[in-house]
Amino acid sequence: MVAYGSPLYVYSRSDIENNWREFDEAFGNHPHLVCYAVKANSNLAVLNTLAKIGAGFDIVSEGELERVLTAGGQASQCVFSGVAKTTQEITRALEVGVRCFNVESASELDRIELVARSLNTQAPISIRVNPNVDAKTHPYISTGLKENKFGVDIDDAISLYQQAHQSEHLNVQGLDCHIGSQLTEVSPFLDALDKVLELVDQLNQQGIEITHLDLGGGVGIQYDDEKTIDIQAYIEAIIEKVGNIEIILEPGRAIVGNAGVFVTKVEFLKQNSDHSFAIVDGAMNDLLRPSFYDAYHQVLPISENANGTQASWDLVGPICETGDFLAKGRDLSLSQGDYLAVMSAGAYGFTMSSNYNSRPRVAEVMVSGDQHNLVRERETIQDLFDKEHF
Ligand SMILES: *Cc1c(COP(=O)(O)O)cnc(C)c1O
Repeated sequence: MVAYGSPLYVYSRSDIENNWREFDEAFGNHPHLVCYAVKANSNLAVLNTLAKIGAGFDIVSEGELERVLTAGGQASQCVFSGVAKTTQEITRALEVGVRCFNVESASELDRIELVARSLNTQAPISIRVNPNVDAKTHPYISTGLKENKFGVDIDDAISLYQQAHQSEHLNVQGLDCHIGSQLTEVSPFLDALDKVLELVDQLNQQGIEITHLDLGGGVGIQYDDEKTIDIQAYIEAIIEKVGNIEIILEPGRAIVGNAGVFVTKVEFLKQNSDHSFAIVDGAMNDLLRPSFYDAYHQVLPISENANGTQASWDLVGPICETGDFLAKGRDLSLSQGDYLAVMSAGAYGFTMSSNYNSRPRVAEVMVSGDQHNLVRERETIQDLFDKEHF
């Protein structure tokens, strides 16, 4: 901490590996590919750790594709999701040979076909269907309902598949769905799978063969005292339903969420008649989840402080927004200068960070065994406006 400064993200390599392997091994001999969802944490060291143990990747932009390739991942193990792939992105993905495009609309299918035609090649595609099931999670991270912008209505998917099947430049491979994030129950996943399997049957009857099912990500983690999904049982339930078809999963949070912490330092303690504020050096620009989703993160002292002030503290940052908090009402004994670990911060932490209030983005460190390495330098003040002109 002293060596790297504060605030700081710290990740555990062995936790990342173990979390990915738990998914991978639960499949046994069933054909499968566990594609880590890069948007959860796209640090090159995280991607390299996963590439080395055979992970595939779920990407949503050209930037994520280039990160994966730079970190040693294989394009042939990448599935390309996202609602608005640009011509440039599709071109690059075809050039490097991604495993599959997850197509989210009729117009996107047309665009992919056009690009594939211009490159005189075939684009491998899955159509992302919206099974209209309630993931029972936060509305901002629920994606499988008709009112969401994602995917194609399951009833409209057949005609798109027919169109794709007839195209010389599209190669139908799979069927895709992703119903939301931070799910804590298996039943919405299995409801979605049932709907998807009905569609696979209908497509088979029309001579359209589906060779993989991509069931997305969304497996929740424990932030507080919520129950979580038994991954082994979830994957066994999938295998039981699907016969021999290859399964792709796209877990993000479940791989990195509990493999990372956010370290922050108490700058000041400020108590008024009814509130105790610990003003820390980390803020909503560094870890957005509490202010954005009202998300809970456990907060632990890095070393116990018997001489601190015991109170129910709100941890707030230096940013000029009332919504700038990391945690509220935490019973802790604190003094100025104490370091705190905001737990479960490995997913959607650094990747959602910004430079708001002209704060340089923080450093990231990877711990492997008794080694620790800086895997992203703290930004400098100069970095903040290096690309600006007047
Ligand atoms: C965000 C996302 C994921 C990963 O979700 P997690 O909840 O982090 O597992 C996977 N697939 C798609 C299409 C996504 O948008």
